[in-house]
Amino acid sequence: MPDTLLAIPADLRRDLTIETIRATIVDVPTVRKHKLSSTSVTAQNYVIVQIRLTSGIEGIGEAATLGGPRWSEESVESIKATIDTYLAPALIGVSADRLGSARLRMDAAAKRNNAAKGAIESALFDAVGKTLNLPAAALLGGAVRDAIPVLWTLASGDPAQEIEEAERKLEARLHNTFKVKIGALSPAEDMVRMTKLARALEGRATLIVDANQAWDETIALRCVRVLADLGVTLIEQPLPAWNNAGMARLSARSTVPLMADESVFTTHDMLDVARQAAAEVVSLKIVKHGGLIATKSVAAVADAAGIGLYGGCLLESSVGASAHLQVFATLSDLPWGCEHFGPQILTEDLVAEPLRFADFQIHLPTGPGLGVELDPAKLRRFARN
Ligand SMILES: [Mg+2]
Repeated sequence: MPDTLLAIPADLRRDLTIETIRATIVDVPTVRKHKLSSTSVTAQNYVIVQIRLTSGIEGIGEAATLGGPRWSEESVESIKATIDTYLAPALIGVSADRLGSARLRMDAAAKRNNAAKGAIESALFDAVGKTLNLPAAALLGGAVRDAIPVLWTLASGDPAQEIEEAERKLEARLHNTFKVKIGALSPAEDMVRMTKLARALEGRATLIVDANQAWDETIALRCVRVLADLGVTLIEQPLPAWNNAGMARLSARSTVPLMADESVFTTHDMLDVARQAAAEVVSLKIVKHGGLIATKSVAAVADAAGIGLYGGCLLESSVGASAHLQVFATLSDLPWGCEHFGPQILTEDLVAEPLRFADFQIHLPTGPGLGVELDPAKLRRFARN
């Protein structure tokens, strides 16, 4: 693969040298408790990466986690340590436009650690885009859409509160698809909860569910039948990430499509899901795939296998959400929309001008790079210590 997708004038190339890489842990409170099968959070933890080039231009990126190393093996503490100790030293002095080379250097310096690498690559795209006055999407092949349907996640576990929350989102024309986090309660309690939600929102909203690997095959088979009767349109990662064979058997017996999330980090994982027919849809996330380019690669494997694409999130702020939107905007088909509601679940965003949500869509920012600017006062305020 060539290092650059665009020819860069020689006078600009001089200025693209990576001078410093700074990683800052921030903790931003959420507007309500967010409960999933493995954990529950009342503050979102991010690592904000700032990469300064010799030209003085700064690129920003973000790695999100969910309640420490519980959703995946990375935590903000491990991400910062990996960046400071291994990834940053491998990149200082390298030209920021050599994105492919940066990826190889990071892979040589550290195995996996995909969230850390994704945050750095996001910041490189931001810095190069700002240098060239082009959005990152242009460096990824060019946007084919300017807005993406965006869902909202219901995850308090209290159906009365969840119905009220959904009503407010519908009324404000912000979201009309809702993903319900299940698996923290017993399957029976979750099915009662889902029945209440489906009845209250019938005909006005679409419901999908995410079990975050909580069930075994027998429980899942029982639940998918109930969920199908309730009109649920998508079931995300009902079985453990390792159980693609179980997902394939479940998928064959389910009228509702299954979505792979925790089971697909790499292109090899994606190929295995496709070969086993273990899911009809895949959730794409920079923290899993390790960067914007790798996210496009996973999407290409899925696309070739006829597996539908869904724009996943880990409750990123507008910084991380923008990086995802830059990739999602370039995918030729994104039939399941995206879930980048993260900026709205924070009490305050980290950027000067937050992303725009309107008419059930999230809108691609128009500026160069990722298209958003960090608010330095907020970064200082939410920085840990
Ligand atoms: Mg998920």
